[in-house]
Amino acid sequence: MQIVQQILFAALAIAAVWLFTKNILIIRRNILLGRDENLTDNPSRRWKNLFLLAFGQKKMFRNPLVAVMHFVIYAGFIIINIEVLEIVLDGMLGTHRLFLPYIGGLYTFLINFFEILAVGVIIVCLVFLIRRNIIKLKRFISKDLNGWPRSDANYILITEIILMTLFLTMNAADRSLQLIGSEHYPQTGRFAVSSVLVPLFDFMPENLLVTIERSCWWLHIIGIFAFLNYLPYSKHLHILLAFPNAYYAKLEPLGEMDNMQSVQNEVKYMMQPELAPTDAAPPAKFGAKDVFDLSWKNLLDAYSCTECGRCTAACPANITGKLLSPRKIMMDTRDRLEAVGKNISANKEFKDDGRNLFSHITVEELRACTTCNACVQECPVSISPLDIILELRRSLIMEDSNAPQEWNVMFGNIENNFAPWKFSPDDRDKWVEELN
Ligand code: SF4
Ligand code: SF4
Repeated sequence: MQIVQQILFAALAIAAVWLFTKNILIIRRNILLGRDENLTDNPSRRWKNLFLLAFGQKKMFRNPLVAVMHFVIYAGFIIINIEVLEIVLDGMLGTHRLFLPYIGGLYTFLINFFEILAVGVIIVCLVFLIRRNIIKLKRFISKDLNGWPRSDANYILITEIILMTLFLTMNAADRSLQLIGSEHYPQTGRFAVSSVLVPLFDFMPENLLVTIERSCWWLHIIGIFAFLNYLPYSKHLHILLAFPNAYYAKLEPLGEMDNMQSVQNEVKYMMQPELAPTDAAPPAKFGAKDVFDLSWKNLLDAYSCTECGRCTAACPANITGKLLSPRKIMMDTRDRLEAVGKNISANKEFKDDGRNLFSHITVEELRACTTCNACVQECPVSISPLDIILELRRSLIMEDSNAPQEWNVMFGNIENNFAPWKFSPDDRDKWVEELN
């Protein structure tokens, strides 16, 4: 019977890891559909960003209470995985509490620590559920989150509560079995939290306790495998992608916009025709219409978005009632990238589906952006919605000549007068004469 359980467990673990790897490779392929962008300069600053922004969650500490709550969930996720390692090895080898004989008292200390963290995770998840569904913070009731995104957040919080409850119940049943001297249940000493639950199991016969302990063990590990495979479909993918995203974040000051090299070259060759290469090909296109025209970092941003809405809450366009929501820009980019990825998976190559990013994002949204960078400043996982907005706007204006009349007048003035106003540059100093 034991060997059957081991085979079943191994098959489950291999299937879970295989499916997860397959989906992660599809996401990697989708991200690499973006155009190339070299973001490998200054590695020491990039590592610092990774530790401060992703690991240390630096931006979250602007609100210490929320930061501590996030940190509890995050630390719980990472640290309790050490315990999952033992569960996996036990499942494969047919052992029970494999590490106990090797580390003795330290084992009990670690399980106690995990249990305290598990209680912390349950409390924080409950608080987050209340914030989302009862208090209804403004950024969580926005229409950006209608449908699946709202359910996604709730599903994850509820799953974490269930997983932690299973962990504590499993330990309580285990401890009860230890106390009646059941075979295969070695003495671990008292557990900090689950021991409180032990009296609930007092009246139960040994075989029922074993059934409860084994059921919780299996449900706990099946839940973890299911959670792992849910990640690629969820905003919670950010718990993995926040790290590369922080590493590859742009290092330039926020207000510095990427120059359009092709446009700069045009101006340079106009002023110094002798520098123009004779075989220079015209630029293929300006800006971005679809995900292929964005950079791989923009696409990594889309997959890393936690849909927290801090960007939208700080966006002056959104605050003043405009249609623009930088969170929606990221969600739309991800939706389009997912659709393109499915198209490629189904057809072995991309077959034109008559859609692009403008099928998701409207001109009105794009025009509302003031390029203030508040969204970039606020984002806890180093995302730049502004980069995508600028690329789409460049396409609108330079490819489709789609700009309001006022903007066209300004463009003409800049081209002719080197300033947004209609005055000749020769007249620029005239105001000084009026002073004399
Ligand atoms: S840069 Fe644009 S999208 Fe971002 S906060 Fe400012 S106005 Fe909003
Ligand atoms: S872009 Fe950043 S701030 Fe905006 S919703 Fe996504 S993770 Fe949150």
